[in-house]
Amino acid sequence: MANLTPDVLPILQVPDPRLRLVAAGVVDVAAPEVIQAIASLRATAKTLRFGGGLAAPQLGISLRIIYIGKETLGHDVLINPVFKPTSSEKLRGLESCYSVDDANQEVRLSRYAQGRLLATLPNGRRIKKHVRGFAARIVQHEIDHLDGITIDMVGAVL
Ligand SMILES: [Zn+2]
Repeated sequence: MANLTPDVLPILQVPDPRLRLVAAGVVDVAAPEVIQAIASLRATAKTLRFGGGLAAPQLGISLRIIYIGKETLGHDVLINPVFKPTSSEKLRGLESCYSVDDANQEVRLSRYAQGRLLATLPNGRRIKKHVRGFAARIVQHEIDHLDGITIDMVGAVL
């Protein structure tokens, strides 16, 4: 029987050990497993209630690929993303995660207020972007997933 949404995958929940893996860097953006991972991230993100972001390890795919709603950065899928803070200033803000209590629980966390984002797009183009505020926060959240870190580990602040 045909499956109408073959790319949608279930989102792993803490304490699934696959969420704790350090994901592997992508070497070839055209590799079939990378193309499949991107399709799964996009398809699964479409089913989410609150939008926001998703990281490949949340789908059990241990590759350094993240998805962030296009309205935030102008791109949706970022490969091998790296965030480098450009000031020591941190901001507190509320975050939730689809892998932690199904996004119902918000946690207040400190994140760098701004930084430089380096990444590769699915077409192989490399981008460098200055991000701040909400965009900087979501980038740090999703990159944490690539290093096996979820918001329940970061340490909430008051
Ligand atoms: Zn998350």
